[in-house]
Amino acid sequence: MKESTGPQTGQNQDLLLEQLTKARQELSTLYEISNAMHRTLELEEILFIILTGVTSHTGLGFNRAMLLLLDNQGKNLEGKISIGPDNGEEAGRIWGLIDKEKMDLDDLVNSFGHFKNNLNNSKFINLVRNLKVPLLESQGGILAKAFNDGMPFHIKKENMANFPSDPLLSVFSSDEFLVIPLKAKDKSIGLIVADNLFTQHSISKDDIRVLMMFANQAGLAIENSKLYELTLMKAHKDALTDLWNHGYFQRHVDEKLAFAKDQMSFLSVIMLDIDNFKNYNDTWGHQKGDEILIKISRIVSDSSRKVDYVCRYGGEEIAIILPDASKKDAMVIAERIRANIEQHQFLKDADHPLQKITVSIGVSSFPDDGSNKSELIHAADLALYEAKRSGKNKVSTAPFKS
Ligand code: GH3
Ligand code: MG
Ligand code: MG
Repeated sequence: MKESTGPQTGQNQDLLLEQLTKARQELSTLYEISNAMHRTLELEEILFIILTGVTSHTGLGFNRAMLLLLDNQGKNLEGKISIGPDNGEEAGRIWGLIDKEKMDLDDLVNSFGHFKNNLNNSKFINLVRNLKVPLLESQGGILAKAFNDGMPFHIKKENMANFPSDPLLSVFSSDEFLVIPLKAKDKSIGLIVADNLFTQHSISKDDIRVLMMFANQAGLAIENSKLYELTLMKAHKDALTDLWNHGYFQRHVDEKLAFAKDQMSFLSVIMLDIDNFKNYNDTWGHQKGDEILIKISRIVSDSSRKVDYVCRYGGEEIAIILPDASKKDAMVIAERIRANIEQHQFLKDADHPLQKITVSIGVSSFPDDGSNKSELIHAADLALYEAKRSGKNKVSTAPFKS
């Protein structure tokens, strides 16, 4: 008997064709985003490309997305980046613009520079960047659970009630959203959270499947980039003290000075030299001297701000770049460093009696003491010399009292 080719088979064929077209489109989207991710090894840019892929209309098409990564201690998830309008009105404006300019994924990815320059203007971005969520589920709620389970978590009105006052909801309030773990070699390294707040499109099983496939690729790209940045960082570090090295200092003064000029802000430089260190080495040997140098480096780092660059200038001299610090600010930090070192009890073991170690410090600032790198370093050197000349264990800066 001949097989029927009635309307039912036709319908099946249509459905099959539709599924095939969709699958092809998904694959091509994933391929496109993954190509874009491989264009760079810089972590910040990779994170931007990932979220652009999640939110762009030619990508996965979510309205908003944010990304969190596990911190170095493995205790908290930290908000890194988010993409999405602050409100419905802005959403309409941005999407209208993208449509009018016919921007595709490539164009959006290329707008990283623009995104970076406008980071501070978005409420949503700032909220996410300050988000820190503990991995303990009793504190970290939805995000901690999704991360620890390593499974996607689809939050809807029905199950949202199970997570009252969840830390995520204060940043990402939405009736429905998706939390997907980012994985590298089967280990969770972070999360992507995405929703459709403005269009209110419900999230389908297919959306979840595609975002999961994408998250696995994204996790690997993030891991590679972190390895790359670690290698790069090692090349800029001093092996003995783990401070930034001389080359890094030189480059960064230039960079931070240009930025300070551009923003009409301040920049200060601190030069520090251990007092009578030759005597110390002569008495106790260079190895013990090295231990002191390591310890002092640690105290200096701990006494500085997070944004400062503490560098080994050479020998037993440490230089610090202090972005956005006026001379007054830098003097306070320098005095804190000097006092912390003076008060520290360095040597406790029996063959190594307690000895007081002190440092002298010179401070210079842009714009007060110079307008280029060489003038600033020279002014800090002169101030350091003055601190030594007037008795050591001091902080000094121009103009000098006679
Ligand atoms: P001053 O108070 O004038 O600074 O006296 P000083 O003896 O510290 O003189 P100076 O700053 O010229 O000291 C340089 C000495 O620092 C020479 C060397 O013994 C010691 N030094 C420099 N680099 C290292 C290092 O990497 N390890 C050790 N152990 N000592 C170092
Ligand atoms: Mg010296
Ligand atoms: Mg010295």
